[in-house]
Amino acid sequence: MQKIAVIGAGTMGRGIAYSAAAAGLSVILQDVSEASLDKSKSYLKTQFDRSVSKELLSKELADKRFREINYTTELSEAARDRDLVIEAVLEIMELKTSIFKQLDEYAPDHAILATNTSTMSPTEIAAQTKRPDQCLALHFFNPVPKMKLIEVICGLETSEETINKAMAFGKSIEKECVRINEFPGFAVSRMNCLIGNEAMNMVMEGVGSPEDIDKAMKLGLNHPMGPLELADLVGLDTRLRNMQYLYETLGEKYRPCPILTKYVKAGRLGRKSGRGFYTYD
Ligand code: NAD
Repeated sequence: MQKIAVIGAGTMGRGIAYSAAAAGLSVILQDVSEASLDKSKSYLKTQFDRSVSKELLSKELADKRFREINYTTELSEAARDRDLVIEAVLEIMELKTSIFKQLDEYAPDHAILATNTSTMSPTEIAAQTKRPDQCLALHFFNPVPKMKLIEVICGLETSEETINKAMAFGKSIEKECVRINEFPGFAVSRMNCLIGNEAMNMVMEGVGSPEDIDKAMKLGLNHPMGPLELADLVGLDTRLRNMQYLYETLGEKYRPCPILTKYVKAGRLGRKSGRGFYTYD
C-alpha cells in the first residue's frame, strides 16, 4: 500500500501523515478546517526538521518528503486514487459513519478503509459501506512519530487479507502491530481510560495534587508519563468522549469523572487549549 489518505488533520491525523510520509509513502491530508491544515503544515515541517537534526533523514530527503505531502479540504479528492484511507476525525460515531459512507463512494474498489477510533466499534462504522471486509480500526498512539504501537482491530467482517495488508502497512512505517478482536476500548484505551479517570477521581477527592499523583505513578510504577499529563496530551475533550462511549458500552466503572466534564465545559482541554490539569505556555 503506497498511497495513503488521512482524514482529519488534528493531533492524530498530522502525526499519522508524518509517519507515513517519512517512510516514503504518498500522503494526502484532508480536513474540513483550513486552520487545521495550516497547523499541520507547520507541524510536519517541524517534524521533518527534527528528523534531520536527529540524523534519521538527510536534509534533501526530508525536504522532498515534506514537499510531496498534499493537502485538501475535499474528501472526494483525498480518497480518489488511494490504497488506504485512515480516518482520524473527532470521536463522534455519526461523524465517522457519515465519512465512511462517503469514502466508500469515493475510494477505489481495492482500497482499505481504516478508522483511528480509540474506543468505538469498527464493525458499526464498516456497516455503512459495501466493503465491510476491507474495513478495520488502526489505532495509533499519541505522539504518533514517537509511539511504536498500532492496535490492529478486526471487526466482525474484516477479512484476513485486509488484516495482513494492514500489518504490512504498519511494518512499512516502522510500527509494531498487535492484533485485537473488537470490544469497546480495545486493549489500551480500555485500561488507560480507567487509570486516567481514577487519577481524576483522586484529584477530586483531594487525595493528592495532579503533580504528586503523576509523580507517584511515574516513580512508583515506572510509567513514563503520569495519567493526568497523558490526559492533557490526549485532549480532555477527546478523553471525555472516550469515557462517555466506554460508560455507555461497558457500564458504571467507566462513568466520566465530574472534574473531566467540568474542565471540558470550561474550555480547559489540556495542551491544545493551553490549560487542563496543568498550564502550558
Ligand atoms: P483533534 O480534535 O485533534 O482533531 C480532529 C480533526 O478532525 C480536526 O482537525 C477537525 O477539524 C477534523 N474534522 C472534524 N470534522 C471533520 C470532517 N467532517 N472531515 C474532516 N475532518 C474533520 O482529535 P484527535 O485527538 O486527533 O482525535 C482523532 C481521532 O483519533 C479520534 O477518534 C480519537 O479518539 C482518536 N485518537 C486520539 C488519540 C489522542 O491521544 N488524541 C489517540 C489515539 C486515537
